[in-house]
Amino acid sequence: MSREVHVNGEWLPEAEARVSVFDRGFLMADAVYEVTAVLGARLLDFPGHMARLRRSLAELRMPEPMDEPAWLLLHREAVRRNAVEDGLVYLQVTRGAADRDFAWPDPPVPPTVVLFTQSKPGLADGPALRTGIRVISVPDGRWARRDIKTTQLLFPSWAKMMAKERGADDAWMVEDGLVTEGSSNNAYIVAGGRLVTRGLGPEILSGITRAAVLRLAAEMQLKVEERPFTIEEAQGAEEAFVTSATTFVTPVVAIDGAAVGAGAPGPVARRLRELYLEEGRRAAL
Ligand code: PMP
Repeated sequence: MSREVHVNGEWLPEAEARVSVFDRGFLMADAVYEVTAVLGARLLDFPGHMARLRRSLAELRMPEPMDEPAWLLLHREAVRRNAVEDGLVYLQVTRGAADRDFAWPDPPVPPTVVLFTQSKPGLADGPALRTGIRVISVPDGRWARRDIKTTQLLFPSWAKMMAKERGADDAWMVEDGLVTEGSSNNAYIVAGGRLVTRGLGPEILSGITRAAVLRLAAEMQLKVEERPFTIEEAQGAEEAFVTSATTFVTPVVAIDGAAVGAGAPGPVARRLRELYLEEGRRAAL
């Protein structure tokens, strides 16, 4: 089935969905995005994703193309038109198309808005959730404003390829000896019975799943420490895991070839994953 893709107010068959070669998203990654999971044809953590979108746009002095109720209608329309049961909605907003120039267009041009879906049957029950993933560590080669969710994904995509080449599933990025985050997820360990994850700041993306998982951890009476950790500490931890909108809570069972804990998914990651999915489905829109 060919998808219907939204481009600037129109729904088009995917082969006809196009943006200008002068689009600043294409020329300069002058664009922000959000990925919202869909389970049972409903959107998970939607208000969180929209709040982060507004923040990313504001940081880059880009106007908001529409308000949250309009975004919700558009996301629901994407799910409906493409009959997505489980999967995701990808949303991108760029600064728009203008002749190539480093300076932002003045006066501003209309933003480019694109939405498309990806169907992923069984998303909530993928094998990685049960078996865990293996990660390698790589120096963090990204720009310094990782709190803004821009489409500059070359380094994370390269890091994922380095992991693949080394027989692993993903990469944890390290800066000044400390783990920042995964290539497309936030990183956690369970050490001394406490849940440890890096605090928010420009060094990492403020994960929407992270916020939910930290809330659930507090409800579970799990002690949370928001601080950075090293690869060595993670290798010696009881458990490790990552979170993101479309992988939920995924256990990490090996880091740079060293097994974490028993080398199998641990109870904290399992419980948090169950609670996140339960809670997420209940609040889904
Ligand atoms: N960090 C990075 C670098 C990411 O790309 C993602 C995925 N968007 C995350 C963290 C997790 O964020 P979220 O839980 O909002 O998907």
